[in-house]
Amino acid sequence: MGKFAAKIERVITIALILSVMLILTPGVSTQAKAKKCNHKSVTWITTSKPSCTDEGMKVKKCKNCGKILKIKKIKKSGHCLRTQIEKMPTCTKPGLTATYCLNPDCIYGYRKYYKTEKIAPLGHSYIAKTYKATCTAPKTIVTSCKNCKYKSTHKEGKALGHHWTKWKLNTDSMIKKKPKKTRICSRCGKKETIYVK
Ligand SMILES: [Zn+2]
Ligand SMILES: [Zn+2]
Ligand SMILES: [Zn+2]
Ligand SMILES: [Zn+2]
Repeated sequence: MGKFAAKIERVITIALILSVMLILTPGVSTQAKAKKCNHKSVTWITTSKPSCTDEGMKVKKCKNCGKILKIKKIKKSGHCLRTQIEKMPTCTKPGLTATYCLNPDCIYGYRKYYKTEKIAPLGHSYIAKTYKATCTAPKTIVTSCKNCKYKSTHKEGKALGHHWTKWKLNTDSMIKKKPKKTRICSRCGKKETIYVK
């Protein structure tokens, strides 16, 4: 920038000297005056676009003579970051958030993440169900998870065993001379029949 400013200054100085000379030499003055540009019609041109991390530059240019009259920096925009969930965490596995830049020209654009961060696993949501001991099975506690297929079975103590009534002779079978006897479990209703030898 300093270089340009110095150049402009030099040119102005030369122009001043020239104009003084022209005034002093009336013969050529009219012709030279017509060539001199007053830079009244100017335009700003962006010579380098700013990015998220770097400044850009624009110049003020005379439309008539093309002379660069001013140089200005354009502020860098900075990242325009957005964070989204890239992977949902499960009960046992961590998830992931990804942060990227919304500016289309940025190197941290979509899927070239500025940063990623782990999301801790959610952990199981337990539900426990208790099944009372029966004649054939001990007390059982089944623990499962509301959100996944996790299941764990825990048994406590022993099965109760059947609560049998006394053996009863089957009268029908007596007539058929093939005597049978029966007993029933008063708890679960299981029936057991055997031949009497
Ligand atoms: Zn000009
Ligand atoms: Zn960016
Ligand atoms: Zn789970
Ligand atoms: Zn039973």
